[in-house]
Order: sequence, then structure tokens, then C-alpha cells
Amino acid sequence: MTKTEKKIDFEKAKRTATDLLEIHEVNEFPINIFSIFEEYDNLNVVTYKEIMNSCGLTRQQVIKNCKSTEGALSYNVNLDEYILAYNEQITNTRPKEMIYWTLCHEFGHYILQHNKEKGVEMISRRLLEPTDRDPFETEANFFARFFLTPPSIIVAANMNDANKISSYFGVSYTSAKITRKYITDSMKKGIIFSIPDILKSCYSKFIKRINYGKTCVKCNSYFEIENLKNCSICNETVFNKYKKGDNPMTKYIGIKVDHNGRAKSCPRCQNEDLDYDGNFCNVCSAYLVNECAAIYDHNPFVEQEELLVDSCGTTLSGNARYCHKCGNPSTFLNNNYLNAWNYRKPIMSDSHY
Ligand SMILES: [Zn+2]
Ligand SMILES: [Zn+2]
Ligand SMILES: [Zn+2]
Ligand SMILES: [Zn+2]
Repeated sequence: MTKTEKKIDFEKAKRTATDLLEIHEVNEFPINIFSIFEEYDNLNVVTYKEIMNSCGLTRQQVIKNCKSTEGALSYNVNLDEYILAYNEQITNTRPKEMIYWTLCHEFGHYILQHNKEKGVEMISRRLLEPTDRDPFETEANFFARFFLTPPSIIVAANMNDANKISSYFGVSYTSAKITRKYITDSMKKGIIFSIPDILKSCYSKFIKRINYGKTCVKCNSYFEIENLKNCSICNETVFNKYKKGDNPMTKYIGIKVDHNGRAKSCPRCQNEDLDYDGNFCNVCSAYLVNECAAIYDHNPFVEQEELLVDSCGTTLSGNARYCHKCGNPSTFLNNNYLNAWNYRKPIMSDSHY
């Protein structure tokens, strides 16, 4: 079959992507693409590095064999098995966003059965140039676009900026820009992007979350909390909407608490055998709950401390230094169970001057 005989089936690529989003119950982006691959028995995913090690080849030789600097999909007719090989090496010209796209692009060839349609054993990834009209490449990219950056979600969440799309969905800025342009051009033609019925239940919740999604400009923590006013890590009140910063749960590891904000073991004496319902440690009587704390004025002339700002009573997560609703410090911060967010361990030095 020659190139010109293949007609690009945009509808099929789009429908397949939508179906897969439903089948794999995707409701978080970037998609965990490797966990999806695991569900396909005849798809083996390998890195160039793995091929180098198992075949004793250099990276250049693997690139030559795969006929691509990025990746390739090989099909073994007799075994009905596929090998998706990809260049895992992150460089300035190959950022992780690009590898993510390549993986999904190759997955597109697999799921759209391009090897069979094209009648070839191997399809190699080409970096598209404006003049490149390979219909299989275009179809695989179209699939990737609808799978990794579903236009209906972007429209529903009102994301008009390629930077935001890139940051939120984990694709490159260039790719986000093409998606954005595709949406604008299509809308001009009167095409409406509504969330497909099969994705409605899963996405209404997700869209809400996208709308809450904010990243703190000071400490780069990412939150999905409705009515977030203060960063619970550093108390900043300015946020970047849609930008996906660090997960504060992994970056600022706190104290393990249950859903009532109560520590699972005592943060002061490490007692693990706590009473079922008490809010104080039965050994050292430390207060176990992380919550919004009141602010008192320490006036040396007055015996009793004067209440300045009352607590709003919000229960907080185990790593919260501040209340995300009102900005008061947390009980864990006040009791020094948590370090200040920007605390650095002092460097030990032998010299004292
Ligand atoms: Zn391709
Ligand atoms: Zn912050
Ligand atoms: Zn204790
Ligand atoms: Zn509060």
C-alpha cells in the first residue's frame, strides 16, 4: 500500500481515544500511561537502554535499528506480539513531556492497528515536519491529542492558555499550542466540544478539581482545595491557577493523621498505643490533633495572654503549618512538631570562631 492510498480517519482516532479514556477510567492527568500498558498482554514496552543491555548495542545502534531517535513499534505476525521501544533518555531536546507523547503516539499505532493496515513489521517515530504528510503519523498524533489532552475537558474547564494546558496535562508547550489552535479553529467552524456521555460521570468531578487546582507562588505546592485562601505550607495567599507544582504531601512530609486530623502516633513521645477516642496522648498528654490554632498576644505586662485571632476550627492535614482557610498557624507548627516550611538542617561544622 502506498502512502497516498491511506485516508486519515480522524473520527476513528478520536473515538478510540475517548473509548480508552472510559475503559481505563482515566480521571487524572498526566495519565499513568505505564499502568495502562500493563493491561495489554501482547504489548511489551522496552526502553532503548534495555535493548542496549540485552543485545550489547550502543544507543546509536539501537536508534539505527529502530530507524528513529524517539521510538518505534514492531509487530511479530507469528506471535501476534508487539514491542514498543522508546528512547528514555531525557535531554534538553527530549524533555520528559516529549517522551510521554512518544509513548502515547506509539500506543496509538498499536491500538489503531497500523502495522497490520500498513502491512509492515515496524513503524518508526518520525518527528513531524510541516511537509510530512504520512497519514499513519498524523492519525497516531491525533489519537494522542485526544487521549492526553482531551479537547472537551479543556473547553469545559475554560483553559485558554497553552502554558496552562502544558502544565496541567504534562505535554510540551508546542503540543499544547497545537491542541489549543485545533480547538479554536474547530470552534470557528461551529464544532461544539461537549464531554461525551460516557465520560460525564467521571469528568464532572474532575472538572471541578481542575477549577480548584492552584499552585503557591512561594513554595510551589499544588493544591486542589475549594476556597483555598492561604497556602497550608508557607501561608502565601497568591496562587497560579492550573499550574501543577509539587505535591506537598511528598515534598513536605508531615505527621500521619487520620481523617479527624488526629496523629496516628504521638508526635512528641512517639507512643503508638494511643486511646481510640482521646485527643491527648495517654503517656505524655501531648495534644494530638492538627487544626487551626488561635493567635495570642504575648504581653509581658499582662499575666493572661490576650486573644488576638480566634481559631476557625478547621481540621488540617498532617503537614499543614497554616490553616488554608484563614492563615492562622496550625497546632502542630505551634508545638514544634513540624519545622517551618523553609527550615534547613544546620550544616555541622567543627570550626567555631
Ligand atoms: Zn509514528
Ligand atoms: Zn506555599
Ligand atoms: Zn506522647
Ligand atoms: Zn483557620
